[in-house]
Amino acid sequence: MKKVIVIGGGPAGMFAAIAAAEKGHSVLLLEKNEKLGKKLFITGKGRCNLTNASDMETLFEHVATNRKFLYSAFYACDNERVMHFFETNGVKLKTERGNRVFPASDHSSDVIAGLKRALMKAGVEIRLSVRTEGLITENGRCRGVFLSGGKKEFADAVVLATGGLSYQSTGSTGDGYAFARACGHTVTKPRPSLVPLTAREPYVRKMQGLSLKNVSISVFKGKKVLYQDFGEMLFTHFGVSGPLILSASSFVSKELENKTLDMKIDLKPALSEEKLDARLLREFEENGKKQYKNFLGGLLPAKMIPAFLELSGISPEKKALEITKEERKRIILTLKAFPVTLTGTRDFDEAIITKGGISVKDVNPSTMESKRTEGLFFAGEVLDLDALTGGFNLQIAWSTGYLAGSSIE
Ligand SMILES: Cc1cc2nc3c(=O)[nH]c(=O)nc-3n(C[C@H](O)[C@H](O)[C@H](O)COP(=O)(O)OP(=O)(O)OC[C@H]3O[C@@H](n4cnc5c(N)ncnc54)[C@H](O)[C@@H]3O)c2cc1C
Repeated sequence: MKKVIVIGGGPAGMFAAIAAAEKGHSVLLLEKNEKLGKKLFITGKGRCNLTNASDMETLFEHVATNRKFLYSAFYACDNERVMHFFETNGVKLKTERGNRVFPASDHSSDVIAGLKRALMKAGVEIRLSVRTEGLITENGRCRGVFLSGGKKEFADAVVLATGGLSYQSTGSTGDGYAFARACGHTVTKPRPSLVPLTAREPYVRKMQGLSLKNVSISVFKGKKVLYQDFGEMLFTHFGVSGPLILSASSFVSKELENKTLDMKIDLKPALSEEKLDARLLREFEENGKKQYKNFLGGLLPAKMIPAFLELSGISPEKKALEITKEERKRIILTLKAFPVTLTGTRDFDEAIITKGGISVKDVNPSTMESKRTEGLFFAGEVLDLDALTGGFNLQIAWSTGYLAGSSIE
């Protein structure tokens, strides 16, 4: 039996602690907050989308960074294992649209309660309101941790699971990056991801509160398409948000650091330009005396009309009959490629995850152990790993936590 310290009482740390204790080790879980799983509590809007019930290929497809590194972790603890774990620890589950798995109660607190039951059962010692200040290392081996108040705690193995930098009020303040750097690890620049984006055009801000469903967006770097998908988005007082935009941020946040990017919204993705033209032509002929501005009401949400009038450059009072072929083309272009200039991302406080973190190059993917410091293991978002929304980020936390904890011999 070895003495194991796990730093961080988030999902990755709790899973690591349970796995290590189930192997027969004596485990101490250290959390600086007054309770475990503060971030977990707010996941999935308080409902906790704890994993995704898709097949393995889909799990991998939704990992945005360092997919291959997760091979052993995902196979050691896949989504089935995670679901089984919660069900056997008293948390009934349900699967929703897109294979998203939630507690049947819709309360993330039940997921935390299930984890606490498992921690107790496995005999993990939990110490709350204790901040770890650094790692004790000796001859290339991790020997324990320095705690707040100048105390030391010794161990044979340490799991670092301190999370990323997003939503810092939950305790994820990036402490682990400094601990890893002190052991010679490289940290890939952390960036906010799954985050709303800022936009340049004043008309975007004027549409704040407007949500668009069934639209398609494309984000370009010059002519290259960096991201394209279909779904739902939202205009805000600073730019754009909503599921489509959060996913897009995962692919464009790095580019947005030093340049702007063009986004085009296809407001009518189900209609080709030809079909749209035929529809407009027919309607203009049938209602020749109707003014252009009054037509738009049938094509667009009211909040979009002023921006649309500005962009199409056609007089709002113009009669339908008088609209030229050239003008019709401009209407179609604006409908199929409504322009928004993206200028950056919002901050870490609004980011669901951190992209970047401890480089996986110096971490053994089969065990999560540091290749630089023996006895030091990593788990969760502190590593340079991130995925799209849908329960995939928590799956990364569970899988890497489990693999780290169960690899301690
Ligand atoms: C609003 C929001 C909603 C989300 N919703 C979902 C969702 O529905 N599904 C999904 O899959 N993912 C979701 N995520 C992402 C998911 O929450 C994270 O990927 C996950 O929590 C990462 O787990 P972790 O254990 O690595 O880190 P964290 O959950 O960040 O846990 C790290 C823990 O370490 C502690 N800690 C840090 N430094 C120290 C220190 N020096 N000493 C002691 N303790 C320390 C922290 O206090 C914290 O409790 C969401 C994130 C946010 C912000």
